Amino acid sequence: MNLDSRTMLVMMSALTILFSGLLTLAGLHAGNTRGVQHWALGGLCIGMGLGLSYFQQEISASTWVLVFGATLAIAGIGFQFNGIQAFKSGHCNIYIPWILAGLVFIQNIWFVILHPDVHARAVANSLVYSLANIACARALFIRIEQPLRTAYWFTGASFAIVSATLLIRGIVVFLAPPNTYGLYSPTPINPASFFIGSMMQMCMSFGFVLMINYRLSADLQKLALSDSLTGALNRRSLEQEAARLSARCTRTGDSLAVMMIDVDHFKSINDRYGHPVGDEVLRRLAEVAQKTIRSDDYFARYGGEEFCILLPSTTEKDAWVLADRLRQNYEAQVMEFGDKVLRSTISIGVSDSIHAGLQFSSLVAAADQAMYRAKQAGRNQVIMHSLCFKPAG
Ligand code: GH3
Ligand code: MG
Ligand code: MG
Repeated sequence: MNLDSRTMLVMMSALTILFSGLLTLAGLHAGNTRGVQHWALGGLCIGMGLGLSYFQQEISASTWVLVFGATLAIAGIGFQFNGIQAFKSGHCNIYIPWILAGLVFIQNIWFVILHPDVHARAVANSLVYSLANIACARALFIRIEQPLRTAYWFTGASFAIVSATLLIRGIVVFLAPPNTYGLYSPTPINPASFFIGSMMQMCMSFGFVLMINYRLSADLQKLALSDSLTGALNRRSLEQEAARLSARCTRTGDSLAVMMIDVDHFKSINDRYGHPVGDEVLRRLAEVAQKTIRSDDYFARYGGEEFCILLPSTTEKDAWVLADRLRQNYEAQVMEFGDKVLRSTISIGVSDSIHAGLQFSSLVAAADQAMYRAKQAGRNQVIMHSLCFKPAG
């Protein structure tokens, strides 16, 4: 490949710094998406580190320039690793870039100043960079969140390609005859690896931007589908799920059950303890309900202090058993708010498609009627619609 190493290096350095600016801009609009600033800082360090190599043999202090260039570049990869960890889990080990930088600094002092050896330095640096890049790739490939799969794979593959390129570079330099290798000596390995490196830096930056984009759209979707106070589904997404399940049940002949839940005397909880306590009571009810229901049931806030649970492949009787367990679990909760202690109960009405039909509105109306019957009967109980409203004839 007839490419000039120095030009390739400058291009790679400029591209990396440019993209770190792009990531900073993307981060400004990413709200509290963690990791973005780490990536931007990582890109800046790598870009500056590569940029310093340009000055090798051009200024008198070139040895120190080499040491600092190599150290900056590895610290940059460390920051990128931390960015990936923070993006995925919210946590990262802040010492990683410093440990890596310390290691490479010592390694370069050794091979550049104390025991000058261009070959050994190139091999050792290539290996450390290769390992750091493969660690980034691994962090992206494991524990993937489904909606971000493509973005993780794209970015992870870019890191893996850089890692493989650096490894090959290390091996080629290791096998080269003595005194034939230099950063700008006319061997094809340098321009080739700088070229691949430039392309991959671009891909990584696009990958990071893709990850931010996917995360934002996944967050937005979650926000649009859930209730902000309790984290339960909101009414709109419940209606969507109901339409989907009704269509499935029509096809399969399965039954669909609905529970309508209403907190007893909730107004007086608000009046006696205040609205914030009332809100907390709703959160606790949501928590208990999420723990009690099965994984394929849909729990939603229907409005105010009323909740609705959609139970696929369930009859009214089975729904009653589950509802009564929920009623008991909730009744057993002793809620403490500072020096205030309170207990609360719920009334539940249940209905199913066998008695009320597959229309979601008629299922809800039937469960609602049963719930009001439970209120009339003294509250803190579960009533099946078919038991109190028998069809005529
Ligand atoms: P019943 O046992 O008959 O259900 O009595 P109730 O007092 O629970 O009945 P009602 O439906 O009249 O009261 C509902 C109250 O819920 C009225 C409203 O102020 C309150 N509420 C609705 N949404 C919220 C909310 O998000 N937070 C709080 N704290 N209160 C809410
Ligand atoms: Mg109510
Ligand atoms: Mg109520």
